[in-house]
Amino acid sequence: MLRYLIVDILLPLLTFLLLRSFFRSLFQTRRDVSRQSPPPSAPNVVVGGELKKDPVCGTYVSTGASVTCTVDGKVLHFCSKECRDKYRAA
Ligand SMILES: [Zn+2]
Repeated sequence: MLRYLIVDILLPLLTFLLLRSFFRSLFQTRRDVSRQSPPPSAPNVVVGGELKKDPVCGTYVSTGASVTCTVDGKVLHFCSKECRDKYRAA
């Protein structure tokens, strides 16, 4: 009697738990893939002008919308005043 209880209840329960974790892992990988699938958008990039790389954080900024700073006669472009100040402080 007890053995039938185990077979009838524990086995389906174990199968259910296994399947649930299996489908959950499937679902999680699918969610990770969909998170990566949209093209990488750089929110700081403003269309218009030439793109220049911010030497502090590496973001590409358009020359029209960037924060500029002239260092040794070279114009540097930053995505924000914070980055410019960081560069100046360095
Ligand atoms: Zn920056």
